[in-house]
Amino acid sequence: MDFELSAIKEKLMELHRQAADEFQRLVFGESPELVAAGSNVDRGEAARATEDFTRRVALGHQQKNHLAAIERALSKIENGSYGLCDTCNNAIGSDRLEIIPYASQCMKCNLNRAGCQKK
Ligand SMILES: [Zn+2]
Repeated sequence: MDFELSAIKEKLMELHRQAADEFQRLVFGESPELVAAGSNVDRGEAARATEDFTRRVALGHQQKNHLAAIERALSKIENGSYGLCDTCNNAIGSDRLEIIPYASQCMKCNLNRAGCQKK
């Protein structure tokens, strides 16, 4: 393999820390108490708060997937399968890993999967 695993691991740990912080902020940030307060707030404000909360839940969900992908990449480093595609077991390619160090699939499988989702 032509990439430095320890450097990648460090990069992944850093990404994980950032993603975890972001996740905490999204999920446990400004609470949706405003929504729960109900009658005390005017309806427009409550609606905005609800909308904001819904958006944050969606973002939190994305962030959670992101965290899981990073954790998976880290465990692949541990078990020696880092850099191999989850689907076809071919090398993901250092070009792709440089851009997305937590990629779990090669470009081809990733495109295939994206294609399937669109159908
Ligand atoms: Zn593949």
